[in-house]
Amino acid sequence: MEAINHLLVCYFFFSLLRTSTSQDSTITPNQSISDGGTLVSADGSFQLGFFSPGNSKSRYVGIWYMLSSETIVWVANRNAPLHDHSGILTVTGDGVLVLLNSTNGIVWSSNASRPPENPVAQLLDTGNLVVKDGNGDFLWQSFDYPCDTHLPGMELGWNFVTGQGRFLTSWKSTEDPAQGEFSIRIDPRGLPQMVFMEGARIKARAGSWNGLRFTGYLELRTNPVFEFQFVLNEKEVYYGFKLLNNSVFSRYVVKPSGVSQRLNWVDRTHSWEIFSTSQADQCENYGFCGANATCNINNSPVCACLEGFLPNSPKDWDLADWAAGCSRRTLLECNDTNGFQKYTRVKLPDTSSSWFNKTLTLKECKGLCLKNCSCTAYADFDVRGEGSGCVLWFGSLVDIREYATGGQDLYIRMPISELDHLEKKRRFSKKKLVAIIVGSALLVVGMAIIGLVLYIWKKKLRNQGTTKRSHKKDYDNEDGKEDMELPIFDLTAIDNATNSFSNNNKLGEGGFGPVYKGILLDGRDIAVKRLSKSSGQGLNEFKNEIILIAKLQHRNLVKLLGCCIQENENMLIYEYMPNKSLDSFIFDHAKSKLLNWHRRIHIIRGVAKGLLYLHEDSRLRIIHRDLKASNILLDNDMNPKISDFGLARSFGGDQDESKTNLIVGTYGYMSPEYAVHGHYSVKSDVFSFGVLILEIVSGKKNRGFYHKGNHLNLLGHAWKLWMEDKPMELIDSLVGDMCTLSTVLRHIHVGLLCVQQRPEDRPNMSFVVQMLSSESKLPKPNQPGFFTDSPKADSSSTKGGTYSGNEITVTLFEAR
Ligand code: AMP
Repeated sequence: MEAINHLLVCYFFFSLLRTSTSQDSTITPNQSISDGGTLVSADGSFQLGFFSPGNSKSRYVGIWYMLSSETIVWVANRNAPLHDHSGILTVTGDGVLVLLNSTNGIVWSSNASRPPENPVAQLLDTGNLVVKDGNGDFLWQSFDYPCDTHLPGMELGWNFVTGQGRFLTSWKSTEDPAQGEFSIRIDPRGLPQMVFMEGARIKARAGSWNGLRFTGYLELRTNPVFEFQFVLNEKEVYYGFKLLNNSVFSRYVVKPSGVSQRLNWVDRTHSWEIFSTSQADQCENYGFCGANATCNINNSPVCACLEGFLPNSPKDWDLADWAAGCSRRTLLECNDTNGFQKYTRVKLPDTSSSWFNKTLTLKECKGLCLKNCSCTAYADFDVRGEGSGCVLWFGSLVDIREYATGGQDLYIRMPISELDHLEKKRRFSKKKLVAIIVGSALLVVGMAIIGLVLYIWKKKLRNQGTTKRSHKKDYDNEDGKEDMELPIFDLTAIDNATNSFSNNNKLGEGGFGPVYKGILLDGRDIAVKRLSKSSGQGLNEFKNEIILIAKLQHRNLVKLLGCCIQENENMLIYEYMPNKSLDSFIFDHAKSKLLNWHRRIHIIRGVAKGLLYLHEDSRLRIIHRDLKASNILLDNDMNPKISDFGLARSFGGDQDESKTNLIVGTYGYMSPEYAVHGHYSVKSDVFSFGVLILEIVSGKKNRGFYHKGNHLNLLGHAWKLWMEDKPMELIDSLVGDMCTLSTVLRHIHVGLLCVQQRPEDRPNMSFVVQMLSSESKLPKPNQPGFFTDSPKADSSSTKGGTYSGNEITVTLFEAR
């Protein structure tokens, strides 16, 4: 402070002195830089000067790349903007950098560790602004006070001697460099690990350093641009990176949205290219599966208790709320009868309360863990070569992730009784596997023989001019080319299963007619769709559904178990979905609270994958034509399953668009080109999917949507908020849990891309799936189709009549 007072006295003296010229890289106590003046590093890579970000009028002193002046890498007065162009930056005789405003008030200042001789401030070729003394020793450097950008040579971490920490924090917004919510730092507790924070909360974890990389940062791979460095000793811990070729520029930045990216400069395109982006799948959320559980993005459900552990709250666990985590089935007793269960290819658990040693062997590590009653797991400290060192965990194991490749070994302490049990289970599964393989082989041979006999027999019958049905039902598909076989259920069995179609068993009513719950004699739960005589959706749709869905199999499609056609009854038998349909959750005030963000996102992604399968990955190209919230069923774990294929159409080969005169579907979900011209393609399903996303995010129906300020439907309202730059107002206020705002905003963005007016502007489902599971830059959406609507419109399925939207009036024919 004394130095600063001294400085004020001296300022009038400074103002008489010369201003730094535009190409200088240094300023001395008799020089200053005013707004408009700059410093340039000796090799011309970086420049320091005054700037205003975006449309902001505030002035800041910052450092940027000469070849990309909008790429600001450091800001001096990030929390204290100047409000005019009168700012002056200078260095005092005490070696303190100060930024003064028009009234000579100090807006920002650096500090100096000791009074220096002949101090000078210099912008180095690395982008580091330093104050040094006559001997060239640094008194202060901007690299010790990082903003949102990590540059080569910058060491981020902790100095254990001084207690000083260096970490990245995001800007508040693209126009405000003040400290934002997101930071990336080394958590020095236990074995130091890299964490991504949102405020004081850990949002995600790259984990501890294992000699090659951070255990959960698989993107960190050997490359021709930079080399990573990690240092851990008694005095300090830090990580940094070094360029392998100094003519290349590379930076790592944490953006205001919380997304972090590594970018490399590409001369050819004269732009920054993204090298890696922080992943945003569910398993990246810190502790997503709770304690003592693992997350595996390729499994469904993604969370599983560690072996020998059980969910703490089985009810929540079944509803895909995993936060409560798991506990041991058999408590650990502190004696020698413990062993270890090995997990391979995992991201090590949170190390904040771990212990480590760099020199022990893995065997010694195990021995040490067994000796300590509260030790729960151990692992190598360094995985290079044979592995070395030791990390021990005590208490719960949080935030373990399983990878298909990468990761490392973790040994979890278990009572011997549990290990025996697991070993027996493994041996049994091995035996079972062998039995299955042998059994399947015998079955295949047996079936081939039976098939051959049946073929000869059928041929004989055909030759006699008669065809008998086997115990399976055969249907010709639309082209009449292929036969479909489906198990036939006996009417008496279905009657018994549904308590004679008792009203108590009724689950709901759809286009076909009533749907009943049933229990078969073998204990299987089923849902029975009974075609009612008065159904608008007739026998053709019934047949269509059988033909299409019986051939499909995907975890996000409801499974058709068979049909029953007997005594004027036409029924479809499905696997039973205990949580019924999505609309019963999202549009219900009480139940919608059960759908937290993770579940909503899980549902959106599941439906997207189911639709992708229908459009691109199944044997046929299938367009559902009636995708809506009531046609998404939810299983025990709240996994979504697309249902109701009564209106679906299959396309062969390269065909991807068709036209119909009979326009059927549901108001609010139909794309404009289908409702107006009868054109349907995969893009009509994409439109319905977009409506579904916006409904799930907002908790509001598209049709029947009411907002006091306008007569728009949900799409119109979402578009209006988007254009006014306040899309977060769309978000369902009943969803109380924490979820990264950027993730929800991304879903709104993708929803708007799907409901664009022109089908060719809408993304296909593979792009949608990709956009939903990455953090890549998204294209700008254009105006949605049918974004205006009649305020009196209802949300039911089409019953025929006149529909007004986008000033076009179309007549829809009766569908159901
Ligand atoms: P749908 O005819 O497919 O529109 O079905 C009408 C209603 O019956 C749905 O909204 C669900 O509530 C219920 N439902 C249909 N299929 C099933 C199923 N497989 N499991 C449980 N409930 C079902």
